[in-house]
Amino acid sequence: VRCEVIAVGTELLLGQIVDTNSAWIGEQLALAGIDAHYQTRVGDNQQRIVTALRVALERADAVIVCGGLGPTQDDITRAAIAEVMGVEMEHDANVEIRIRERFAARGREMPRNNLRQAQIPVGGKPIPQMPGTAPGLQCPIGDQVIYAVPGVPWELREMVTGTIVADLRRRAGASTQIRSRILRTWGYSESKLAELLAPRITALESFGNPTIAFLASGIEGLKIRITAKAAEEHAAAALLGEEERQIRTILGDNIFGCDEQTMESVIIDLLRERGMTLAVAESLTGGLVATRITDVAGASDVFHGSLTAYASAVKFELLELPRGPVVTSQAAEAMAQGVRRLLGADVGLATTGVAGPSSQEGQQPGTVFIGLAWTQGVDSRCVRLAGSRRLIRELTVISLLDFLRRELIAAPDANG
Ligand code: ATP
Ligand code: MG
Repeated sequence: VRCEVIAVGTELLLGQIVDTNSAWIGEQLALAGIDAHYQTRVGDNQQRIVTALRVALERADAVIVCGGLGPTQDDITRAAIAEVMGVEMEHDANVEIRIRERFAARGREMPRNNLRQAQIPVGGKPIPQMPGTAPGLQCPIGDQVIYAVPGVPWELREMVTGTIVADLRRRAGASTQIRSRILRTWGYSESKLAELLAPRITALESFGNPTIAFLASGIEGLKIRITAKAAEEHAAAALLGEEERQIRTILGDNIFGCDEQTMESVIIDLLRERGMTLAVAESLTGGLVATRITDVAGASDVFHGSLTAYASAVKFELLELPRGPVVTSQAAEAMAQGVRRLLGADVGLATTGVAGPSSQEGQQPGTVFIGLAWTQGVDSRCVRLAGSRRLIRELTVISLLDFLRRELIAAPDANG
């Protein structure tokens, strides 16, 4: 089957919000092996929504339209679908009850306006998932179908994964199982990664299964998604596993995690396995390292704390850094040793550098030193980062965490 996506909303055309819904839906369709050749954005205008729907139905078997299902006058997606279907709208008493329940659950009375959301084109039916107050719709037209989902991202996601993708796959007569896995990397640029994996990609192209795709995700690193199809789930899983093994042989430790893992969750797991604890001294990152680590549930098993040692005096007095320059590798090492001792941890980490925009101690913005002190000794790295002040700080965090990760992997028996 072919499925198009139409995002409704004048704000999308004016650039007031970015159409992340279409991107996300596109990704889900691709994962499910459903062809999606066009995405359209259209303002809140019934005639233009009708035209967009008609054009899409000339090219595709199915259309997902998102947005404009709210309770106000300018929410006209329902009416546009009814017009395309050539039917009236009718009141759905069950939907009204569900909307009333949603309001009651929050201790509120349903405003009269929300009754509009219980109006459904004749022949259509509501999508069972309804996380918010807006019901989604599935509206068959002959053997084609229009699905309508609300614009609110978390509401539509439940509907797309819970109903729409399954319905599309059923329409496709698909009995194939599709599985995918994301390998997350840090250390290589996108072009370097593409170059290293080129022989693998070429080898796979002749089969078309599994497939590999790159997704750049900024400070989260580069993701490699492997997608495998097979008649049976275990066969798809076996294909995935084999391809993962191949890619790991090529990229080694540059792969830091898989699927839901993050750099910080991986580090916490590595420290926990080794029974080690962590403390951080943060100059230019000002607490960002601690924020990222404590975002992970269970961080308290390994994380003692972080000292924002921003002023030089704090570095000298609390961390016992020898007086002198503070943007050097010696300073990063001394800060790591200082915080390790001060907070009584097995591992001490430190960041010091120039976030910009102006230089410091004759060093250019983006010059950053990261330090590590632990049972295995002290070590540091100089990294040269580019970008805004904010980006330099965020890149420092991930560079520091990756530094520790590689050291931990290299010393599997190290412990406090
Ligand atoms: P509501 O019941 O909230 O009015 P709705 O179906 O009418 O839902 P919209 O009014 O179009 O949806 O959008 C609601 C909110 O969802 C928008 O303010 C915006 O934050 C978000 N949103 C809408 N469309 C998109 C989109 N294409 N991509 C990302 N976010 C979107
Ligand atoms: Mg709305």
